[in-house]
Amino acid sequence: MSKIYDVIVLGAGPAGLAAGLYAGRSRLSVLIVEKGQDGGQISITDEIENYPGQVVDQPESGPSLIARMTEQAKKFGAERVSDTIKEVSLEGEVKVLKGEKGEYQAKNIIIATGAHARPIGCKGEAEFLGRGVSYCATCDANFFEDFEVYVVGGGDSAVEEAMYLTKFARKVTIIHRRDELRAAKSIQEKAFKNDKLHFMWDTVVEEVGGDGILSWMTVKNVKTGEVTKIEADEDDGMFGVFGFIGTIPNSDIFKGSVEMDERGYIPTDADMHTNIPGVYAAGDVRVKSLRQVVTAAADGAIAAVQVERSMA
Ligand code: NAP
Repeated sequence: MSKIYDVIVLGAGPAGLAAGLYAGRSRLSVLIVEKGQDGGQISITDEIENYPGQVVDQPESGPSLIARMTEQAKKFGAERVSDTIKEVSLEGEVKVLKGEKGEYQAKNIIIATGAHARPIGCKGEAEFLGRGVSYCATCDANFFEDFEVYVVGGGDSAVEEAMYLTKFARKVTIIHRRDELRAAKSIQEKAFKNDKLHFMWDTVVEEVGGDGILSWMTVKNVKTGEVTKIEADEDDGMFGVFGFIGTIPNSDIFKGSVEMDERGYIPTDADMHTNIPGVYAAGDVRVKSLRQVVTAAADGAIAAVQVERSMA
């Protein structure tokens, strides 16, 4: 039978790594299970300007910040395993997580599995993913050096990532379904000053297409109903469409085991308890009003301290 940890943290984004750090420092035996690379969504974020304590005017990249969090959790004794959990059993004193590589047991579980990009929802999107359609500017911006790029969305992510894309693309157009951005005013101010950034208001993407590579799309003005076909410049032969229209929680494996809302986010109290004793949720996967690195890290810290108190 495998070791029974005091706590297993599922996910190594800011919430999971902060939970690992706090649990380790509290002398709890803690295992962090992560299926991919550390960092979750911030591992694909170019600049983080608003994590407290960062050097003003020298924004740090997501991978750089997360590398320090990983190191810190390790220093305080958090064990690590790379595995994809497929099945969970959360009732009873000992919780069991079944992964592709092994089975893990703990008295407590902190769910810090985060969220992933919501697809744009237009026709042809899946077919052209990686062939013009992307949800990650940091990963794919350099494929569009000197090309035209369209960004779908009007929140912080869309506007910040669109600004990042202007460093590569010849022209970047934000396509937003309303005539006003949702992004923070400070972010909007920077965007409106950027000459390479353009806006297509009250518009949604209906279909993307091309001959193997994305070279046309149809967009619809939601106020007038007018549908327009946008084609790649003849010399370019292609363009990019980046979607940043919010996120979907990574909570599927907990369906039926933990209470969640209709969108799959997990409700908690202020101390990160879910409806199941010994099961906590932290970071973007839980119901909350502000999804930021700082709030994810805070959630992780709170959850780990609650675990410690419950075992004292
Ligand atoms: P978000 O704030 O939920 O914004 C999503 C945007 O996509 C909205 O403008 C929304 O339009 C649009 N949208 C949603 N569904 C759509 C659809 N089906 N078709 C077309 N457009 C659609 O998501 P986010 O920008 O990813 O941000 C998520 C969280 O992370 C937020 O709390 C945000 O503040 C935070 N964040 C913070 C920073 C930062 O502080 N630097 C950076 C990135 C993200 P409507 O406006 O019409 O609803």
